[in-house]
Amino acid sequence: MNLSQLANARILDQPVYEPGKPIDDVAKEYGLPLDQICKLASNENPWGSSALAQKAATQALKTLHLYPDGSAHALIRRLMEVHSLTQQQFVLGNGSNEIIELLGHVFLEPGDELVCGEFAFIVYKLVALLMGAQPVEVPMPGLSHDLDLMRKAITERTKLVFLPSPNNPTGSANTEEEIFQFVRSLPEHVIFCFDEAYAEYLEAPPDLRPLIEEGRKVICLRTFSKIHGLAALRIGYGYSSPEMIGLLQRARQPFNVNAVAQAAAIGALEDGDWVSLCQKRNRDGLAQLAAGLDKLGIEYIPSHANFLLSKPGNGRSLFFELQKRGIITRALGPALGDYLRISVGTEHENFRLLNELEQALTVYGA
Ligand SMILES: *Cc1c(COP(=O)(O)O)cnc(C)c1O
Repeated sequence: MNLSQLANARILDQPVYEPGKPIDDVAKEYGLPLDQICKLASNENPWGSSALAQKAATQALKTLHLYPDGSAHALIRRLMEVHSLTQQQFVLGNGSNEIIELLGHVFLEPGDELVCGEFAFIVYKLVALLMGAQPVEVPMPGLSHDLDLMRKAITERTKLVFLPSPNNPTGSANTEEEIFQFVRSLPEHVIFCFDEAYAEYLEAPPDLRPLIEEGRKVICLRTFSKIHGLAALRIGYGYSSPEMIGLLQRARQPFNVNAVAQAAAIGALEDGDWVSLCQKRNRDGLAQLAAGLDKLGIEYIPSHANFLLSKPGNGRSLFFELQKRGIITRALGPALGDYLRISVGTEHENFRLLNELEQALTVYGA
């Protein structure tokens, strides 16, 4: 009897998440110098993290022999100030991805349905499958979330509905008004999960706290991986009602968020100037990429985040052609085969991307 025969039946069918290639791998594979590689593949902050975050992380290195604070008191105290919520309204995760998984552990049973958009962040679907639940993928006409269609997809078996806004990989966003209307239309047995990974890139992110306040079953997810530039440390959080948080805490590992990450996150929250600077640079970067794509005659979806979904045709071939040239972007599944997701880089990286893309198009034009 081999090991696979002992595995539960679902795990053998479980699709595997395919991360962007690390810079080192690309350098080795194509024999390129490390400093000539631009990674514009994972929506990281190209300007890095705040100096305050790095200082706090360095300080935390002195006590690596100690377990982290399992309840992350200091960080949660900061989050209470940031969001004007109580201690019992926060749960931390090893990246906000872990909280998506915790939601699956707590709420999903085989036969339950998880509703999400067909081009939404892929992790929701993966978690549904892992728990033996049914992902229900709702069409996204124009590549944005249509909340009327999402509402129609809700059945008596729906447990969780996920809405990322801005969404990855499309960059589309929904208005606060339509989200409120949608949430208030949901039946009692449905939990609304609002993924705010890119909230900081919006001028005025929707504020769902009134919905939590009025007793709606809503949880909001945030991450330190994007604008705060702490992707390496894996830290994110959710905020919701104390009842929701209490349930998620039961499914969480005692020390799921490490001490360096907790310290760096506190530093990051203290540095509002860094966040503002990155917001401004990102806006400029989006404009630079958009202008460059316009010049090349390539369509793209207007983005509310730190990446652009472009439509050069031949997404996968261009992805490989660019990678040969030291530019790592992101090709997507077959349904988005004509598209290429490009994360905003520094001004120089964007410039290089646009140049290399122009060259690559001569090889693999649509
Ligand atoms: C990047 C991203 C996250 C955050 O993931 P972490 O686990 O916190 O790094 C969550 N949701 C979406 C839609 C994302 O793009």
